[in-house]
Amino acid sequence: MASLVVRAKLLKTLRHVTARPLCSSSSSSSSSSTATAFSAVSSFNLAPTVVGNTTATATIRTSGAGCGVVDLDDPERLFASVSTSKLLRASANLRMAAADPMVDLGLWMMKSRLLEVEAVKDVVLAVIKRTFYDHFCAGEDAAEVGKSVLRLREAGLRAMLDYALELVDDSEACDRNLTEFLRTVESAKSLPPSSVSYIVAKITALCPMRLLERVSDLLRWQHKDPSFSLPWKLKTFPIFSDSSPTYHTHTEPEPLTPEEERDLQLSHERIQKLTQNCLEANLPLMVDAEHTSIQPAVDYLTYSSAIMYNKDDNPIVYGTLQAYLKDAKERLLLVKKAADKMGVPMGFKLVRGAYMSTERELASSLGYESPVHNTIQDTHSSYNDCASFMIERVANGDSSAVVLATHNVDSGKMAAAKAHDFGIGKLNHKLEFAQLYGMADSLSFGLSNAGFQVSKYMPFGPVDMVMPYLLRRAEENRGMLSSSTLDRELMWKELKRRLKAAILI
Ligand SMILES: Cc1cc2nc3c(=O)[nH]c(=O)nc-3n(C[C@H](O)[C@H](O)[C@H](O)COP(=O)(O)OP(=O)(O)OC[C@H]3O[C@@H](n4cnc5c(N)ncnc54)[C@H](O)[C@@H]3O)c2cc1C
Repeated sequence: MASLVVRAKLLKTLRHVTARPLCSSSSSSSSSSTATAFSAVSSFNLAPTVVGNTTATATIRTSGAGCGVVDLDDPERLFASVSTSKLLRASANLRMAAADPMVDLGLWMMKSRLLEVEAVKDVVLAVIKRTFYDHFCAGEDAAEVGKSVLRLREAGLRAMLDYALELVDDSEACDRNLTEFLRTVESAKSLPPSSVSYIVAKITALCPMRLLERVSDLLRWQHKDPSFSLPWKLKTFPIFSDSSPTYHTHTEPEPLTPEEERDLQLSHERIQKLTQNCLEANLPLMVDAEHTSIQPAVDYLTYSSAIMYNKDDNPIVYGTLQAYLKDAKERLLLVKKAADKMGVPMGFKLVRGAYMSTERELASSLGYESPVHNTIQDTHSSYNDCASFMIERVANGDSSAVVLATHNVDSGKMAAAKAHDFGIGKLNHKLEFAQLYGMADSLSFGLSNAGFQVSKYMPFGPVDMVMPYLLRRAEENRGMLSSSTLDRELMWKELKRRLKAAILI
């Protein structure tokens, strides 16, 4: 009897210690799956603050560690907004994702031909949905995503919405994808101002893959031979530096056929339509970076759109720069210089890069040196160097903007300290930080507590569609030395503290 009373008391106390959930869309799955707009909850009515052209919602936080200092030593403060049940689930999911046998099983299940059998597929998808999916994705439909975004907002973070479409092969599929992206923009408008920071798009979902390869080949050839004519080419920023890899293109490519030119024109129009909608919704468009085999075309389509839409002090189109590439800093400087000359405010997301093994394998199969830095230390230096360059530009009142997308604690702390020295904080939207949903939560909270704008990159969509993204996350988190180690340790410490506090009450 006594033990029952103690257990009931413990549960009650634990429930009290936790008020605000962060991760996982599962709790929202009972909501209407037919909703087309993300559901907004009116009780989240923090006072809006006007920031430049943007209306931002300031989340008021106590700043024990002092502004600019990223304090990751106090799990109680870091996870103050996360309920115990969510913390337990997140901790269990991260542990599972770090255990090699579990990841192998998960990967096997996700890739298995058994998925072709309808009944097996339903079971496998249900298991994935309750585990990896709920941890790394915001939800299957607008209603689930809306709730996840509001939970983030309550925790002081913002959402980068990524309808997780991957590559497609034909124009009709691109048209369908555009409709989905436009629906995302429309739905984001129904959420509280500023809870969504960016709409994410993959150019591979808006332009057929084969065409991206062809355009990249042609752009590379023109870089090798500037007299090579590309009559369809629009105004762009520099796409290559002198050290950029061109080994993907051995021989002079055939010019685009009339059909290819028409498809390219249609791709421009899709991106422009999406950008126009983003502009009207005052939501910047964040374009992801891909492999070097197609990145020239991705940059070309991104930059030509940026030149049209990024005006005054307001970058609407953001491109992504991968610091693991040896030519990253050179290209950043060239683009920045050209953008300044044209008076175009350019936005960059800075990442390290997700396709290292593919890049190395391709280069080595063609007998060339990898375009990726030879050591991880060189990649770290490149990232920190590019970040410093952009922070200094932002501090100097430059019109360009940067999102530092990283889980690396040293990079996060270094950038925060530098930004703090320059007096850049939450009210300056030209410098922001971002982490993937379900990853590096302690860094996200630490940066937010230190007074910076922080977003979580939130993929959403049906479980089977998000599978390629989940496979990448599973690979990235495997092993005890993965980037989730710190999160797992801090979450565990906080769970133990809450349990102890509950027992002692
Ligand atoms: C919000 C967000 C958006 C993202 N968008 C994109 C995107 O559009 N395109 C994209 O490609 N990636 C993207 N990524 C993934 C990103 O590129 C990294 O894979 C991931 O964030 C891990 O890098 P990190 O900075 O967090 O730090 P860490 O975990 O410290 O660094 C790991 C990274 O270092 C590099 N690396 C590892 N070993 C070596 C080595 N031996 N030599 C050289 N380099 C090495 C690799 O890039 C590896 O991913 C995104 C990440 C985030 C958080």
